[in-house]
Amino acid sequence: MRILAVGAHPDDLELLCGGTLAKYADQGHEVIMAHLCSGNMGGLNIDPQELAQTRDAEAKAAAKLINAQPLGPIAGDVDLYPTEQMRIKTVDIIRQAKPDVILTHSPNDYMPDHVITSQLVFDASFTSTLPLYKTKLPAHENITPVFYMDTLAGMGFEPTDFVDITDHLETKKQMFFCHQSQLQWIEGHHKAEPTDMLETVAKFRGLQCGVPYAEAFRRLNVWGRIKIDKFLP
Ligand SMILES: [Zn+2]
Repeated sequence: MRILAVGAHPDDLELLCGGTLAKYADQGHEVIMAHLCSGNMGGLNIDPQELAQTRDAEAKAAAKLINAQPLGPIAGDVDLYPTEQMRIKTVDIIRQAKPDVILTHSPNDYMPDHVITSQLVFDASFTSTLPLYKTKLPAHENITPVFYMDTLAGMGFEPTDFVDITDHLETKKQMFFCHQSQLQWIEGHHKAEPTDMLETVAKFRGLQCGVPYAEAFRRLNVWGRIKIDKFLP
């Protein structure tokens, strides 16, 4: 399968579905990791352009750990809107990735870039299949099943599916730690210790499904998206 994960910022996928992506990669699936925003606002006292470059390098390093293909960004932080331009760019990410399954943010996550990423992916994953909707790339062939990733700290998230990531927790951590620029930022701005945050949620989701560590997902249950095949690893 071809797996497309779309996060808002360069470290979101690692935190919210990194174990699942590592597991997919281990099983021989093709993983594509896209982020829509450059991450240029995730810091203090640093030039945003310089930060965007740092974060691009961090995202590429994390993707490399599981031989995933990195894609994006299409906008700066808090500069993502559900506009026609942004939808076209998201359509082309999907048309380029040709996914069998898409993972993205939950529509009720904690900040605008996450919410808008979710909206753009929902809109674009349908639009990308329309042959008469012309962009740089030809239409994607299937209306792709979508799984929403957990929210930050699991707030207001009712999972429908779980992935056992016990054997991939270390890889998930290594991927997350590629984002060195964010570790202090998370602690300073969000008042959370990054390793603790990652482990606590994985353990809590594990408790809910009877394994040591897990990641949680909620499937998009609308017509055309439900297939009988199993899409999570
Ligand atoms: Zn984010």
